[in-house]
Amino acid sequence: VGQLTIIATPIGNLDDLSPRAQRAIGAAALILVEDRRHAQRLFQHLGVQPKTLALHEHNERALAPQIARRVAAGEHIALLSDAGMPLISDPGFPLLALLREQQLPVTIIPGPNAALAALALSGLPSDRFSFEGFLPAKGGARRARILALQREPRSMIFYEAPHRISETLADMAELWGADRGAALCRELTKIYEECLRDSLGGLAALLRAHPDKVRGEMTLVVGGAPEQTLEEADADRLLGPLLAELP
Ligand code: SAM
Repeated sequence: VGQLTIIATPIGNLDDLSPRAQRAIGAAALILVEDRRHAQRLFQHLGVQPKTLALHEHNERALAPQIARRVAAGEHIALLSDAGMPLISDPGFPLLALLREQQLPVTIIPGPNAALAALALSGLPSDRFSFEGFLPAKGGARRARILALQREPRSMIFYEAPHRISETLADMAELWGADRGAALCRELTKIYEECLRDSLGGLAALLRAHPDKVRGEMTLVVGGAPEQTLEEADADRLLGPLLAELP
């Protein structure tokens, strides 16, 4: 049988592509890419012209069986996303689930990932953390998710779009408290990389004062909730079921 190789690619700085990733891209019989045009830039940089197949959220379920068949038949196939680690808020899960079910070989060439880079840079506790990906796009569902995370004790990592970041910071400041520690990491590994470390309220004010910072790719890290006191935990245990009964 063949094998699927998951390959992480740079999140902004092409020099972050590892020599091993480079060799694997050169050697794959077929490369699954999120977006062909986007991948072309990387291939041009490497001076290679591999065979590609677009695998994205709209076709990955339909394509998974035929890719699994090709791996079973002996092909060496690679999986890339536009940037960073495939499968992390990126396509690949239906394929990996199927390969797992069929016990077909998979390996990985790890590398850049915006979530872990931001966490490490944030200066917030990194011993335990929760990766939250993107919040729901719609206002009501977003606020419900933010509310549900109110008592999360671990640091939380969010991917966020520039046009939503101000609203997200305002909602978090309102529902979690404006003084909760946070870090907004922008344009990591690129020329204008910066990591703004402040409270939720402080970051919201900073973006209001500097609209030029509401731009680029951004990852938000927020510190966890302070540990509850015994009395608070008790009150929660008693109130929780009561609140759940309310319409
Ligand atoms: N799989 C990717 C990874 O491993 O980081 C993430 C893919 S997700 C579709 C893209 C999101 O990651 C962006 O909207 C942004 O929130 C975050 N991101 C990607 N590159 C970044 C960078 N250079 N700096 C900060 N955040 C970044």
